[in-house]
Amino acid sequence: MPQLYAEVLLPLPLYSTFTYRIPEEMVDRVKVGFRVIVQFGTKKFYTGIVTSISPIAPEGFEVKEIKMLLDDYPIVKYPQLKFWDWIAEYYLCAPGDVYKAAVPAGLKVESETFVELNSDFEENPDDRLNEREIIVCQLLDHNGKMTPAEIERKTGFRNVVALIGKLLERGAAMISEKLVERYRSRKETYVRLTAQQGDSDALHAAFDAVHSAKKQETALLALIEMSGITRKGGEVKEVSRTELIERSGVTTAIIKAMADKGIVEIYKKEINRFKYNGLVGGELPKLSEAQNQALDEIHKSFLEKDITLLHGVTSSGKTEIYIHLIDYVLRRKEQALYLVPEIALTTQLTRRLQRVFGEKVLIYHSKFSDNERVDIWKRMLNTSEPCIVIGARSSIFLPFSNLSLIIVDEEHESSYKQQDPAPRYNARDMATVLGSMHSAKVLLGSATPAIDTYYKATSGRYGLVELTERFNDVKLPEIEIIDMTVERKKKKVDGTFSERAITLANEALARDEQVIFFLNRRGFAPMARCKQCAWVPKCLNCDVSLTYHKHLNQLVCHYCGATQPLPNVCPACKEPGVEIVGYGTERIEDQVEQIFPNKKIARMDLDTTRNKDGYENLIEDFSKKKSQILVGTQMVTKGLDFDGVSLVGVINADALINYPDFRASERAFNMLEQVAGRAGRRNTQGIVAVQTTNPNHPILLNLVNHDYKSFYTSELEQRQAFNYPPFTRLIYIYLKHRDISTLVELAAIYGNRLRELFGNRVFGPEEPTISRIQSLYIRKIMLKVETNASMKKVKAILRELYENMHQHPRMKGLIVYYDVDPM
Ligand code: ADP
Ligand code: ZN
Ligand code: ZN
Repeated sequence: MPQLYAEVLLPLPLYSTFTYRIPEEMVDRVKVGFRVIVQFGTKKFYTGIVTSISPIAPEGFEVKEIKMLLDDYPIVKYPQLKFWDWIAEYYLCAPGDVYKAAVPAGLKVESETFVELNSDFEENPDDRLNEREIIVCQLLDHNGKMTPAEIERKTGFRNVVALIGKLLERGAAMISEKLVERYRSRKETYVRLTAQQGDSDALHAAFDAVHSAKKQETALLALIEMSGITRKGGEVKEVSRTELIERSGVTTAIIKAMADKGIVEIYKKEINRFKYNGLVGGELPKLSEAQNQALDEIHKSFLEKDITLLHGVTSSGKTEIYIHLIDYVLRRKEQALYLVPEIALTTQLTRRLQRVFGEKVLIYHSKFSDNERVDIWKRMLNTSEPCIVIGARSSIFLPFSNLSLIIVDEEHESSYKQQDPAPRYNARDMATVLGSMHSAKVLLGSATPAIDTYYKATSGRYGLVELTERFNDVKLPEIEIIDMTVERKKKKVDGTFSERAITLANEALARDEQVIFFLNRRGFAPMARCKQCAWVPKCLNCDVSLTYHKHLNQLVCHYCGATQPLPNVCPACKEPGVEIVGYGTERIEDQVEQIFPNKKIARMDLDTTRNKDGYENLIEDFSKKKSQILVGTQMVTKGLDFDGVSLVGVINADALINYPDFRASERAFNMLEQVAGRAGRRNTQGIVAVQTTNPNHPILLNLVNHDYKSFYTSELEQRQAFNYPPFTRLIYIYLKHRDISTLVELAAIYGNRLRELFGNRVFGPEEPTISRIQSLYIRKIMLKVETNASMKKVKAILRELYENMHQHPRMKGLIVYYDVDPM
């Protein structure tokens, strides 16, 4: 066998792969896409992925050996590796970053620090171990290797790390790196008869053995019946212990007793965690004429264009059209991917799809446990069976083998974009890349398409299908603009509610209809302030004012999570008088409780939906009308389908409109139109009450007419005038440093060098709105490049610049990263 070398991709933000020697015994087993354990640095071990194999020995440095081979089949397919490269190239990040984001943690064995006793250690009589240290040593002696966390748990000692440090210093303990495989396959306990099929003597013996034990006899009968062992020629079915207990009503102790007698055998078996919850496949929904026509147009469009936009007003029944497309794909024994912007949306949708496609529906997102994700990954890897995967953005990384359709629902949503950490990718855009790699068709759907998408659709890059009527001809809601300046003058405002909004809500509630109040700010109040001197408490790590959360009775930083108590006395002027200002959803909920005392109220925001089922329960209760009023952040705007809502109140439209960003108008219009779409979905025309101090703002005028196209046209003019996307491509370059003066200096140098290279395409450095997060100061440089510029070239220039900059003595400690196509 010739000596071979593998290029290994590590889950680290490094721009290259690393070469490792393949040990002789692995030479004919290691292949591209296999996971290997390699050492990187002096201590750490990582799971790497083999990206290529070559007989050429690298020169000029020592090559380490692969330590371990984890797979006997590739866990990542070759096209996926190409897809990762593509993403890394486009988003100016390391392929290792993409690998980290793409593969569930359970497939990436990690090294963890382990502590063990040093058996050669002799205690120094002048420096004896104290009592706590002795306890830890005894524990280590007993257990062998342990992690600090385990030691902490077993001893109940706090700050064990320091104690371990002392033991290490003295040589009493040692650190060792042990590999920990995180993924645990799920095992279930099964029970089988020891008697072979057809061996009636053995069966008789079994009955004799349980003769005087009634319960054992019952269990034996049940097991025979369930396994079908006495059925002639039939297959013997495996029976799980749980099923057996359910059927026979005996306890595990009874089964254990039978095992002790040698009648049955208890064994464990690995099962796939993917569980189907029992809904069976059913009929396709019947489409309306308009829907049928749209479906037809989509099929036609796909003959010419790989990517097509379905622009269908809210409640036009886009989901029903998707279902027909998916059905078409499944019938051809192919796979489809259905991307949704929020995990939260999968629940309603999953049920709708399962009703039609039964167990062909798979779900994949980050609230699933890692083990569940690994199971789905492996399942996708090992089969090309037809299926439909519903997933949030990370599902574009699944190992599809037979993908022929990708649906990106609510394609305008900014949550398709991963903000932090790298890769800062947009799953919608990468879905189109994935689609082209698989020769799959991509359907983007939205009632309010992103400006960029609509531009591509109207300029011929994408196909375009429009669906202008709502299902069942329900009218689009009437928009009523409430001028808060006028209302306040007339003293018709209660807290933050105008009298008019309250009247409308009361009318709806009196008709037994439901109401949604929307405010895009969580917490109780966005800010606290001293009445005397206007002092505002800010996060110690970030440059942001703290949000007051009443249920916690704390000030919370929404950027880093740090908390502080609300001070009674102002630390600046020493006067008591710190008050809270403004409104968040928590406070709105409080107010709503006072204004509508006999109504049941639910609140939906990040704080009420943190645990896995929180969101589901809220939606369930509201659709079952257990609550009449729902208060929420933008979470309530996204594709939810409630049929009892006739009024949506937008508490403060100004906060949406006045946001300092070139996409603010787009986002505001989308959000308002989407939240409006929640009103009056089935039989009645709904009303949307929009509170604003800016009633003549063009966005609101377009909203009143539900006029997406006018909005689009004027917005596009703005973008062209100021050279923003879709006319250019933006790259933000972020620079972060702990020390402000170093940062300012380096950012200026960076900006100047960039200007030498890119000329007037460079803007900044500027201080972003939030100029410090988690103790790091931030500067931002904006690069506007032509849309047809080669990202490869841009990347090469930026990399070279970065490397040159490293010669600067103060570069150490500077963090530089890029955000391509920022949202
Ligand atoms: P969109 O996603 O376009 O906002 P949905 O697909 O959620 O709209 O449809 C809105 C409502 O109309 C849903 O309650 C849906 O069940 C119903 N609906 C739409 N099309 C049909 C159809 N063809 N048959 C029965 N109900 C439909
Ligand atoms: Zn903070
Ligand atoms: Zn003060």
